Amino acid sequence: MLYRADFHIHSCLSPCASLEMSPSAIVEQARLAGLNALALSDHNCAFNLPAFDACCRQAGIECLLGMEVTSVEEAHMLCLFDQLDAAMEFGDAIYTSLPEVRNQPERFGDQPIVAEDEEILGFADKYLISASTFDISTLVDMVHALGGLFVPAHIDRAVFGIISQLGFLPEEDFDAVELTPRGDLSLAGRYPVMRNSDSHQLDSVGSGYTEFDLPCLSVAALKEALKSSGNLP
Ligand SMILES: [Zn+2]
Ligand SMILES: [Zn+2]
Repeated sequence: MLYRADFHIHSCLSPCASLEMSPSAIVEQARLAGLNALALSDHNCAFNLPAFDACCRQAGIECLLGMEVTSVEEAHMLCLFDQLDAAMEFGDAIYTSLPEVRNQPERFGDQPIVAEDEEILGFADKYLISASTFDISTLVDMVHALGGLFVPAHIDRAVFGIISQLGFLPEEDFDAVELTPRGDLSLAGRYPVMRNSDSHQLDSVGSGYTEFDLPCLSVAALKEALKSSGNLP
């Protein structure tokens, strides 16, 4: 089956994202944009994944459950799972590792946790843009131990990408690297590539995507497809 996938989307839980980005609104917008595979990937927090998973099921859109983790090097890492419990376990470890810095909603934006019907269930207390205490190598091991896919995010960006933070792209067991929609393919080196939108507002959902021909949407099927793709997208 051909999947048109956007695996990097922020919900309203991310303080930098628009409050219109409820899981249900994201899924509806994705459907209109012609996507049939999605992942939610909020900064350092999994609290909106259960609602997102439920909304995708209701809409008949397949999804991965993700997070964009800030490593101790302050580089952003896309971590994607196909099992909600694994994603929640990983999310707990990341959120617990964040420093005890409270969010200041009036300064940084709200961090609402929402249900599938958009009811606000509460707010994430810690400021989600802080860095976790884990370095990149440790995060690779944690994600793989839980059956996930590890993809350094927007490696072509001037800030918070692995190349901007380290000065180079290290030899690690990355499953792919992410480029922005028009990012330079030569930066990816030997790694397979995916492109996503990194949406923080509804009208950009699907503005970046990758097409995968897969038997089903799973981490194992994606790993296989990425391995054999070279870096085509
Ligand atoms: Zn990022
Ligand atoms: Zn992002």
